[in-house]
This record gives sequence, C-alpha cells and structure tokens, in this order.
Amino acid sequence: MRRRRHAKIIGTLGPSSNSRETIAKLHKAGIDVFRLNFSHGTHEDHARTHGFIREVEKECGRPIGILADLQGPKLRVGLFADGSAELVPGERFVLDMDETPGDANRAPLMHPEIFAALTDGAQLLVNDGKIRLKVIEFDERSAVTEVMVGGTISSHKGVNVPDLYLPISPLTEKDRRDLTYALSLGVDWVAISFVQRPSDMTELRDLVGTSAAIMAKLEKPAAIEHLDDIVQLSDGVMVARGDLGVEMPQEKVPVVQKRIVRSARQEGKPVVVATQMLESMIHSPVPTRAESSDVATAVYDGADTVMLSAETAAGSFPVEAATAMNRIITEVERDPYYRETLRASAPAPGNSAADAISSSLGHVATVLPLAATFTYTESGFSAFRAARERPEAPVIGCTPHMFTARRLALVWGVHAVISETMTSIDQMVDDAINITLREGFGEMGMIIAITAGMPFGRAGTTNLLRVTRLKELPPGGSAELYLGQSG
Ligand code: PGA
Ligand code: MN
Repeated sequence: MRRRRHAKIIGTLGPSSNSRETIAKLHKAGIDVFRLNFSHGTHEDHARTHGFIREVEKECGRPIGILADLQGPKLRVGLFADGSAELVPGERFVLDMDETPGDANRAPLMHPEIFAALTDGAQLLVNDGKIRLKVIEFDERSAVTEVMVGGTISSHKGVNVPDLYLPISPLTEKDRRDLTYALSLGVDWVAISFVQRPSDMTELRDLVGTSAAIMAKLEKPAAIEHLDDIVQLSDGVMVARGDLGVEMPQEKVPVVQKRIVRSARQEGKPVVVATQMLESMIHSPVPTRAESSDVATAVYDGADTVMLSAETAAGSFPVEAATAMNRIITEVERDPYYRETLRASAPAPGNSAADAISSSLGHVATVLPLAATFTYTESGFSAFRAARERPEAPVIGCTPHMFTARRLALVWGVHAVISETMTSIDQMVDDAINITLREGFGEMGMIIAITAGMPFGRAGTTNLLRVTRLKELPPGGSAELYLGQSG
C-alpha cells in the first residue's frame, strides 16, 4: 500500500476513534501517524490504543508512526463552589493559593510559579482566552485583578499567561510519569507542550535519549523568540495554533505559522501544522470552504504534516475528516503552482557533505524524470535531508530499523521500507530496483536516484549519490546499468 501524496496527516485518537476498527479505517483513509494525547485518558487507555495501532500496522504491512503528546505545564484554575461564576467587566477578581472553592469574587489558582513570576499589568487569560484579567496588585500567594473581558468562569478552566516567562521545567511530575510509560510502550515521537526556551528541548532529550524522536510544540511567544535554536535542538516542531492563538493576538498566528514552517524547512526538520484545521467536522460531515483553504495553505507553504485533533478524537465524523484532509492535500499536490512555490521557497543548502549530496539529489530530480529517489539510512537523517529538497518523486527511506521507518511516517514525501543493512553498492542498487518494481513506483526503463552513506551501517555519513536506470536482472548479476553507459 502506498500513498499518492507527499504531505502527511496526523490523527489524534480519543473516544470517537480508539477502537481497532476505526483505527484501521482512519489509516486507510490517510492517517500516517496517530497521536496519543496524554492530556486525556489513562495509561491503560493509551496502552490498548497503542496495541491496536500496532495490530493494524502488522495487518497492512506499512510502518505507522505513533506520537505521544505530553500535556506540559498546563495551568488551570481550581474548583468553583457552584461549578461556575459570572465575571463582570470592570469589577475586581482575586486569584489565590487558597483551596477553598471559588465564587464571583475569588478562585483558587494553585500555581505558586505564576505568583512568583507576576508583573504589574500582566494579563491572565482563562478558558481559551475568552476571559481576560489584568493584574493590579499581587504577592507570592495572591493577585488582585481587574476583569477586562468577562463571562462565565468554571472549574478547572485553562489559564494562559502570555506576558510571563515561568522559570519552571517543561515537564511536570505527570509528564515524567507519562513519558516513562509512553517510552515503555514504544512510541516513535514524543511531543512536549508549552516549550519556552531551547534548554527545554535539551532536558527532554536527556530523558528520551535515542528511544524516540522529540518534537517541540510551539505555543508560547517566548518560544518564538528563540525559534531557530529550538528548531535546531528538536527533531521536529509543531505549530500548536490552539494555545498560540490564546497567547498572542489571533492575527499574528498565520504570520508566525509561516515563520515556523520556513525555519523548520531551513533546518530540514519536519513541521506539523495543528489545531482547528477542520474544526467544523467535529459536527459536520463536510468541512467549510475556509477550512479546506487553511489546510491547502499549510501544504502550499511546504509543511510536512497537517494534524487532526478533536475532529478525529472526539468528533462525530473522524473517518470523513481524514478523507477530507487526504483529498485536499492530493488536490494541492496536483497543482503545477505547488511545485513552483516549493521551488521558490527552497532553503539554501548547508555546508556539510550530506547537504551537498542532498541538494545534488534535489537537482537531479529536477533534471531527470525520476520514478523514485532512495535513501539508505540508519537514523533517518539522510531521509530527512532528502525530504528537505522536496523532490517531485517519492523519497523511499530504506532502513534496517523499524523505529526509523516509523519515525519517517511523519516526514514529507517519505515512504519507508524495511531492508537489511547493505554490504555493497551493487546490493544496494539491486535492492532499490526491486523495491521500485515491487511497490509500484516505476517500471523497466525508468530512472531512480539513490543516496547513502559509506561505510554502510554507520549513522550520519551521507556521502554517495547514484543514478541508475531500471533494467531486467540478468541471471545472478547486478541489475544496474549506469546512465550514459548503455544503449
Ligand atoms: P493541545 O496542543 O491540543 O495539546 O493543546 C495543540 C495546540 O495548542 O494547538
Ligand atoms: Mn496546546
């Protein structure tokens, strides 16, 4: 089974979709990577879902990526005595470290780190930014605020503090427990929420090691200030537009989205555009025109992956949402203008041997009508570099490691295939030809290009580019025929 598109789709699993049957349908409809959202559900729920995904993977014979998304330091107000209260603009409202349930005058906010970081005039946003409070007075345990925008405030609603830099670890106790559990299940990517600074990624990397690839969710203005450094320290990034749109003015989100996509493409790191992509499909079997256009825009910008959240996790039409996403991407990729915009926005190569090889591959792909491009890769690195060139032909990522193949499920254009570690160039060329034919990427007479690292079996050595025409395998011999050498 192969996809006919380059951009990938993440689908979040939840009550609407975490049955084995629906996971199989979602994968068939186009979901390449499933997201386990650790903000919801128990460890047992995630273990069951994880098991179902691996069963579906076995059944369809294609590597499927699993992304564990850690909640991060999500701030929340405490309980209200009546469940909720009405806040009126212009009035005072107190937040404090007292656990007594709240009312229309005050509420518990059990986060000492907020009080420690407060500044005069700082804004506290509650319930997705619907309620705005401005700090007038504060000490280490309480803050008096003025209600700028009122409304209904209720128990456990989220709090955002866009103006504050919180000197806290990006990983709460819960996150650490969830991370250990996710890694014990064997997830392929770990995403971390509310990243503020580059060292947050180092902290996560120290805990994850090489067990999974790590992704920074960019949803804090502070993170955008250090964007390039965070991208460099991550294996991938997510434009987490939900919280981003609360933490900064809505109109800035599209601009920041484009900036993040550009930065990630420059570094050759996969970038995911997430949240409210087909939001109306939570309740409707078809998206709005604006939503289709939003997904298309992310694809035109060169994003690796677009993500479905509540649409697949909690909506009434999870499979329809995946189908709609698949259709929109396919349509964009048919447009000759898509190739043109990708080319126009292509990042300049870096100065490593790997970059020289990968950009040559990109060049070969524009000069020759390639059936496929191949990368033989241990860690996945060469496949990331090849994808960075956004070649028109599929990027076949050949690797001996299932974990690498699964990680590559998230990367633009990459079709991962498990093949043994190569011992010679001849063997590699034969293998690439066999895969091209077997998986239907090309026929006899067509041309493929291959990048790899010599010596084989060692990570981070991309130094070889080979161009080959597909020819009938002579009995016992190599299938390869150099271009220009033959008639
Ligand atoms: P969330 O992250 O769904 O975990 O909040 C995505 C976002 O904020 O956009
Ligand atoms: Mn978020």
